[in-house]
This record gives sequence, C-alpha cells and structure tokens, in this order.
Amino acid sequence: MSRVQVVWFKRDLRVHDHAPLFHAAAVGPVLPVFAIEPEQWQTPDSALRHWQFAAESLCDLSQALATLHLPLCCWQGDVVTLLEALKARYGDFALRSHQETGNDWSFSRDQRVAAWCRQHGISWHQPRQHGIVRGLQKRHRWEAQWEALMAAPRYPAPQNARAANGWEAFHHVPSEQLATLALGVDQTPCPERQLGGRREGHALWQSFITRRGRRYRGSLSKPLLAWEFGSRLSPHLAWGTLSMREIAQSLRRQRQKHTDNAQWAASLRAFTSRLYWHCHFMQKLESAPSMEHHTLHPALRGLRERDPKAPRLIAWQRGHTGVPLVDACMRSLIATGWLNFRMRAMLISFATFGLGLHWREPALHLARLFTDYEPGIHYPQVQMQSGATGTNALRVYNPIKQAADNDPDGAFVARWVPELARLPLEWRSMPWALPASLRQRFDFSPGKDYPLPHDFDAEARYWKSQLYQLRRSPQAREASQKLVSALASQRRPKTGKRQKTPPNQLSLFDK
Ligand SMILES: Cc1cc2nc3c(=O)[nH]c(=O)nc-3n(C[C@H](O)[C@H](O)[C@H](O)COP(=O)(O)OP(=O)(O)OC[C@H]3O[C@@H](n4cnc5c(N)ncnc54)[C@H](O)[C@@H]3O)c2cc1C
Repeated sequence: MSRVQVVWFKRDLRVHDHAPLFHAAAVGPVLPVFAIEPEQWQTPDSALRHWQFAAESLCDLSQALATLHLPLCCWQGDVVTLLEALKARYGDFALRSHQETGNDWSFSRDQRVAAWCRQHGISWHQPRQHGIVRGLQKRHRWEAQWEALMAAPRYPAPQNARAANGWEAFHHVPSEQLATLALGVDQTPCPERQLGGRREGHALWQSFITRRGRRYRGSLSKPLLAWEFGSRLSPHLAWGTLSMREIAQSLRRQRQKHTDNAQWAASLRAFTSRLYWHCHFMQKLESAPSMEHHTLHPALRGLRERDPKAPRLIAWQRGHTGVPLVDACMRSLIATGWLNFRMRAMLISFATFGLGLHWREPALHLARLFTDYEPGIHYPQVQMQSGATGTNALRVYNPIKQAADNDPDGAFVARWVPELARLPLEWRSMPWALPASLRQRFDFSPGKDYPLPHDFDAEARYWKSQLYQLRRSPQAREASQKLVSALASQRRPKTGKRQKTPPNQLSLFDK
C-alpha cells in the first residue's frame, strides 16, 4: 500500500501551482493540513489582521480542495505534536511543504521538524515556491535561476487525488470558526483591511492587468493613487493565495500584448522589477537571518538604542507626532493594513532619523500593521531605510517635501488627519508654522488642536552625520565590502555591458 502523503500548507494557501500537493496526489493518499500553532501567534510581529487574512484564505482553500475531493485539516497545536499523532496513526508517511523563508520563530520550528523527521526516518520534501536559494554563498547568477524558475511550467491542481483514510482525527477547527478563533494576538482593528482568499487575489490581479495597471508607474509614490493603481497583491503573495510564477507568466503575456502602448509598457516593466525585488529582498534574510534582530553592519550596532516606551515612539505609533504626512500614513495604515512603498520608507526613515529611535520597535509595530507582513522583505527594507546596512546611500525622506511631491492637494492628509482639513493647503503639511494672524480665522491653535512636532530636521542631520562617520573607518569599509558581496544584487556583468535577455523570458534589467 502506498504511503500517506501529508501536505503541510504554510504560506502557500492555494491548490494551483502547488508542487507539494501535485506530487503528493501523484504517489499516494493525501492528507492536506494547516497547523494553527499558538506559539507562532504569540510572537511580537503577529497580529489579528494577519490571522483574519489567513483565515479567509483557508476557507477559500478548503473549498478549492473540496472540488478535488480532498479535506483541509486545520490542526490546532504544535507541528511536532501533529507529526507524532500522524506517525501513531499511519506509521510511515511522507511530509511535503514549500520551503519557507520566515521569521526566527518559523525557522526554529522548521529545524525542530527537520530533526524529528531525521530521528523517525520520515522524508520531508521541500520544493521552492519563490526564487530564493537556500545555502547560497554568492549572488553570482542568482537572477538566471530566478528567471528559470519563473519560466518553468506551473503545476495544475491535481484532478486524481485521493484523501487519506482517518483524516478527521487531525481536523480540529471547522472553516467557519477559523476567523473567530481566540489566539491572543494584537487586536488592533483594521476596518478597511484587504480580504483574503484566492478569489480576491485573482480579481485584484485581473483588474490590475486589464485596467488599473496602466497608470502604475506614475502612481507608485503617491499614497492615494498607489491604493488605486498599485497592484495591492502583497498580502496574496505573502500568504501564497497566488503563486509568484503565475503572476510572472501572466505578466509576460500582458507585456507582449502592450508593446505598442508606451504607458502600459513602462508600467508593466516597472511592475516586473518589483516581482524580482520580492525574492531579491527575501534572499537577503535567508542569507543573513540575524538581521531580524540585529543591525546588519557591525560598525553601527548599539546606535540609537533608547527606552522602547519613549514618548516619541508612542506618538509615532499612534500617528500623533505633529508631522501631518507621517501621522496620516500611520493612521491610514492602522485602518487599512496597507501603505505604498515610498510612505513605508518615509515612516521608518522618520522614526529612526527624525526621532532618533532604534529600528527594531518601529519594525515590529509596522510588521503588526502590514496585512502583507513578509519577514524576508520587511527586515531588509527596514534596515536599508534606517541606514543600518551601512552600504546603501543614506536616504532620509523629508516629510514636508514628500507631502509637496506626493500629496500635492493635501487630500491624503485631510482624509486621515481631519483636524487639519480646515487649514489652507500651504499650511496643511506644516501647521506649526501657521502665522498667528491666521490662527483665529481658521480656529486652529498649534499645540492644542494638533501636537507640535519634535525638531526632526536637526535630529535627522545629527544621525546622518553620525552614521557617515561610523562608516568611514577602514574596518567599517571592509565590513561593508563583505556585506555587498554576500547580499547585494549582482545584476550587471562586471564589464558593465547589459545582459541579453532570452526572448521568452522576463526582463528584470529594465529601468
Ligand atoms: C520599511 C518597509 C517595509 C516593507 N515591508 C513589506 C512587507 O512586510 N511585505 C511586503 O510585501 N512588502 C513590504 N515592503 C515593500 C513594499 O512597500 C510593498 O511590497 C508594496 O508597497 C506592496 O504593495 P503592492 O502589492 O501594491 O506592490 P506593487 O508595487 O504592485 O508590487 C508588486 C509586488 O512586488 C513586491 N514588491 C513591491 N515593492 C517591493 C519592494 N520595494 N521590495 C520588495 N518587494 C517589493 C511585493 O510582493 C508586491 O506585492 C516594505 C517596504 C518598506 C520600505
């Protein structure tokens, strides 16, 4: 009799282009399982919005599996305990899941699972779902393997699957109860959160490639426009309701369709490079997992360490810093769970340069607020935007300039910081400077109706000069070179010539 094939769903909640499910169905009876691990939901980067998105996606997955005559067993408890129970029921079995680049907690959990499998002679098959290479030493030719993975044929949903007998013993939580499960996570409500599930993800993608995506390129940095014309696929890619490869392949077809339309072509080119960045950043955490906890560059460790309960941190977390665009971004993020790239970068840059906070607490706060929280993108981005990598040029975003460039009519600030909506545009991004002669007219008193800000400009200048100074020593330069060779993209050959992309592949090298 063939062995039971346990398919462990993680952050890959779909039946399409799912290698573990496809291979499992080809060789034996299948037991699809998702483990709700209480410990995971107690980590300081977990939040209710993540769980709600996952729960909706699990309901959708359960329905999709039902059409393949398979159950979805939602097990509540530790995975190793699940493996013990599976062994007691089936004896020998095979475990199949996608490789995961997660946080420290999921990495340690996977190590425990690997040790258990070795001890009990259970084979654990872990194909890749993203372009991340485990154990990679050098980035040389990394892009070529990314291209090859994205161009490879997708796995269809298996039509011939058989469910393993006795699966009911591993099914603790019915789908309809998932969303209301008490996990003890951060409860911050998110009334405008994106909904989970493959159907939602698919609809978003369709509207993006047929309509919204045309204006992608010119809208990316603007918080209101990016909400409409950005893909907003991020939580779907983070929870795997869509596969990166299906998006990459669909995108390639669209790019071929739109070669004659300059606006579409430029937007889809820009979008292509974002898909590549997804894996490029995740590879950094895979190769240097300590960056979840520690400043990447050794010369910069110990800098900006303060009491995490500092009033500045709390003001930033609540959107009450007195800097309108910063506060609007934070309040909108709390309510929607999403923010565009430029505004995320500005929030971290403001916390670390403008307020002089260490990056770690702000990183955890944002992780809890992003429905799309993806550790592999998040920590490398946070370190880069806070100047902690020591290798990139320091980019400090000035919130007043950002407001002028990216919210020129003040509509975003007016929506999320309504106490400023009555001010004329020229004072909306710096209400502290409202002349005394106008205060009565607009019934607005800085410091009373809206907080006065910290001198973020002087603070940012100070930290910028500190960081540049620390980066200058010979030891710091040597450490920078090592980091660049281990983690930076080697996108261009050393000759400086552009690589020629084979005609059937995505081009990642366009500007
Ligand atoms: C401090 C900081 C933290 C971030 N944390 C996360 C995170 O936890 N999860 C997350 O998915 N993204 C994160 N990003 C990257 C980026 O802001 C989001 O991916 C993007 O805003 C999501 O919106 P979208 O799906 O409409 O993106 P689009 O612009 O439509 O891009 C499509 C996809 O490409 C990927 N992508 C886009 N921009 C980037 C980027 N700069 N780096 C890496 N991948 C990218 C995402 O998977 C995204 O869904 C972070 C950025 C910063 C500055």
